[in-house]
Amino acid sequence: METVTHNLVAVIIQILCFNFLIFPWNLIFTIIFAFISHIIVDGIAVITYHTPDVQKGDKFWIIWHYIIYAVSLFSIIIFIIPYWLSMLFANIMDLWDWFTLRPIQKKIRNKNPESKWGDKYYFHRIVDWVRKKLFFWLPKRVYKRSGVLIEIFLICALSISLLFLEASIFIT
Ligand SMILES: [Zn+2]
Repeated sequence: METVTHNLVAVIIQILCFNFLIFPWNLIFTIIFAFISHIIVDGIAVITYHTPDVQKGDKFWIIWHYIIYAVSLFSIIIFIIPYWLSMLFANIMDLWDWFTLRPIQKKIRNKNPESKWGDKYYFHRIVDWVRKKLFFWLPKRVYKRSGVLIEIFLICALSISLLFLEASIFIT
């Protein structure tokens, strides 16, 4: 799913771990649960609008991504202090797969289009595996525009939970 959704889940995880666990378990379990949360959240992402490829000619796609990137950036700014640890580990799979491995792979394929290098180092292979085992029954709506409503609903529900958990925000 989108970065903002991962971030909100991460904030909830860090609040709960720090409320219920003592040092160093609060840190250890924040990292473990945040990492696992990415697998679960991406696992169910098939019910939201999530085209596997960039739809450059599609206005709806472009506008939705402008909005969701802006909201994601906003969530990073307001929650990075004090929730950076959980947010980092809740997004580490995307940081590695999308912003590290994929650009390297692109460079290699420019020289050698046949290259399979890197394919097995994708974290999202774990997501695909878990989705097949646990979430195969979910309706696939990745090309359905109405899927954005599901993601918006999730973002609202998570944000409301954060109000109840009295999440602290960096900018007040
Ligand atoms: Zn992901």
